[in-house]
Amino acid sequence: MVTFDHRDPGTPEAAWSTSSRWASVPWSDARGFGRALIVAAHPDDETLGAGALLARLHRAGTRVTIALATRGERAYATDTSMTRVAEFHAAVSRLAPECTVVDLGLPDGALHEHERMLERALRAVGHTDLVVAPWRGDAHGDHRVAGDAAARVAASYGAVLLEYPVWLWHWADPDRAEVPWPGFVRVPQSGPDRRAKESALAAYASQVSASDLSEPPVLHAGMLAHFSRDWETFVRSAP
Ligand SMILES: [Zn+2]
Repeated sequence: MVTFDHRDPGTPEAAWSTSSRWASVPWSDARGFGRALIVAAHPDDETLGAGALLARLHRAGTRVTIALATRGERAYATDTSMTRVAEFHAAVSRLAPECTVVDLGLPDGALHEHERMLERALRAVGHTDLVVAPWRGDAHGDHRVAGDAAARVAASYGAVLLEYPVWLWHWADPDRAEVPWPGFVRVPQSGPDRRAKESALAAYASQVSASDLSEPPVLHAGMLAHFSRDWETFVRSAP
């Protein structure tokens, strides 16, 4: 089983961005979706993994609902959930100003105890033709549970499922067997979508920069570098 420490330096982005394997990863323009459901396990997942896609969908007129499973209260020794939820709302307003937000408030780090509740809540959003969720193989328990629940909902609606890795870029490297290269698609991250994502990321002050907390930020510069490629990467499952 893969485990990781977010405080480790992690794999340098250059190791990923210079990999020759990208040449065989197809592009997708993510067009043609009427309704999309985006799932975040914690505030910031949606922006890191799919911020530019969110902005792109919104610009294309897709009706977007974002479901926030937990408020991320366990990021630091002190509960910062109020701050993180406020940051989440600021971020998504910069990505998809007219989106609908579903704030579930399930416990951070214990999503596995509430998987059925999460699935019901996702299903209650209603029919959708695109589901975007954390990648199940991310080696993070909450991401796996959110991805599993989202995958079942996507299957029941016959929706396309796009799973976004977050921590994979930190703990793996391009040659690791866990990297799902054959399933990857990439969506361009440029122009207004890229700018919207950068603006949304800046809203997450508690995660990206040192604060009055005595701990280092969860997202250090080396980790953030993985999300500034010219594309966002998803594992695609068609219905
Ligand atoms: Zn997360």
